[in-house]
Amino acid sequence: MNNLNNLYTAALERAFQHANDYLGDLDSDPVDVELNYEQIKALWDWNLPLDGKPAADVIDELNTSSRPGLVNNQSGRFFSFVIGGSHPSSIAADWLTSAWDQNSGLYIATPSAAVVEEIAGKWLKQLFQLPEYASFAFVTGCQMANFTCLLAARNHIFNQAGWDIEKNGFYGAPKIRIITGEYKHSTVTKALRMLGFGTDRAIQVPCDEHGNINNELVIAEFKRDPEIPTILILQAGEINTGGYDDFATLIPVAHQHKAWVHVDGAFGLWAKASTKLKHLVKDVETADSWATDGHKWLNVPYDSGYAFIAHPDAHFMSIHQGAAYLRQDDKARDQMNWTPELSRRARGFSTFAAIKELGTTGIENLIERTCKYCTDIVDGIKDHPLAEVLAYPIINQALVQFHHPKEGDIEIRNGEFTEKVIAEINASGEAFFQPTTFKGKRCMRISVSGWRTNESDVKRTITAIINAIESAKSKM
Ligand SMILES: *Cc1c(COP(=O)(O)O)cnc(C)c1O
Repeated sequence: MNNLNNLYTAALERAFQHANDYLGDLDSDPVDVELNYEQIKALWDWNLPLDGKPAADVIDELNTSSRPGLVNNQSGRFFSFVIGGSHPSSIAADWLTSAWDQNSGLYIATPSAAVVEEIAGKWLKQLFQLPEYASFAFVTGCQMANFTCLLAARNHIFNQAGWDIEKNGFYGAPKIRIITGEYKHSTVTKALRMLGFGTDRAIQVPCDEHGNINNELVIAEFKRDPEIPTILILQAGEINTGGYDDFATLIPVAHQHKAWVHVDGAFGLWAKASTKLKHLVKDVETADSWATDGHKWLNVPYDSGYAFIAHPDAHFMSIHQGAAYLRQDDKARDQMNWTPELSRRARGFSTFAAIKELGTTGIENLIERTCKYCTDIVDGIKDHPLAEVLAYPIINQALVQFHHPKEGDIEIRNGEFTEKVIAEINASGEAFFQPTTFKGKRCMRISVSGWRTNESDVKRTITAIINAIESAKSKM
């Protein structure tokens, strides 16, 4: 037995060393990868091994091959997509999750993993002030949270129309209406596709300058056909601007028409955890389902998303799994009855750890300070003659375009120049941004989601952006 234990010890100690070095170097290492695809491929041994080798050596080799191709999204100067880092306790909890290797589909297979999800699920509902009776699911991310919520919506809406969709499928089914904003996230589109609704079936309502759905047009659509069973998909936190749909106005209208209201709040729902920001999500708790992420703003390791559903019966009926060989516990919660997967990772541990580490005050502080840093970065560059703010932060997202120094009145030139500035910033290693297109304009998205970002990162970033503008300009 001792020999086997030694095998673990050596591999785990190497992993600890490499992880500790990696995290310790975040402030000094360049944020972006410096190698191209060919160079990265060349770092790896592509030969299928004939003979094995000691676990610890495998870990060393893996680390050596991987490190140069890792984008340091754990860095305090990573501002792309909406990607957070990970809090120390949640990384460590995630390691333990792997060591424990629990199959978290059934209570009997892993009681602790089932109960920790019950606790963390309850805490999250309290944080977001969602109904206590809402059911929940720990899934891989907001993609699957959107899917899980919309699956429950599908059950509920078809039931209401007298159709058992789980049994009969779509052949001969009554028609369902889906209303979304034109700026819905691509994962909503994909969820609709996976659910068999078909993407073209969704009515896409135009959005305002923040990407928020137009209230009048939604109301008009309900008036146009008041009876047809409907799912209305709203958004808390538009991916580019962080804009919020008007829940207080639209949810009551939808409910008058017996519609199901789903809210995609991958990061934006977290505003509910802040006293200062919760006005943005006023009445969001009156919706029927909510999807959000842990791996974005809560800063827990991938992959971690959460679905909440105000109709536990619809949730259960749409997704439960009753295979005879799976003994189910009558008191405890069998996760597989609430999630798309059977065998699955015990995701509750890392979420539990992060919430414990932060407390509600720590979470509130995380949300508010990342929003402030986003504003600080925008304020630090907005007076540059070539910078134009397209979306000032509502929360932790902003959009900036850099005008071409000579042809600044030509949109396409501004887009090209903006991409050049971003490339210069990323090449400096000082910060990391990505371009996006919003309302036809190519621009730079500033997304501040990582817990590590501090005042000094903000200063370094502003300097890096200004230097990059000057450097790109000098090459024009
Ligand atoms: C990121 C995001 C998603 C998808 O979340 P994943 O965790 O990447 O699956 C969905 N909706 C919005 C608004 C997002 O920002």
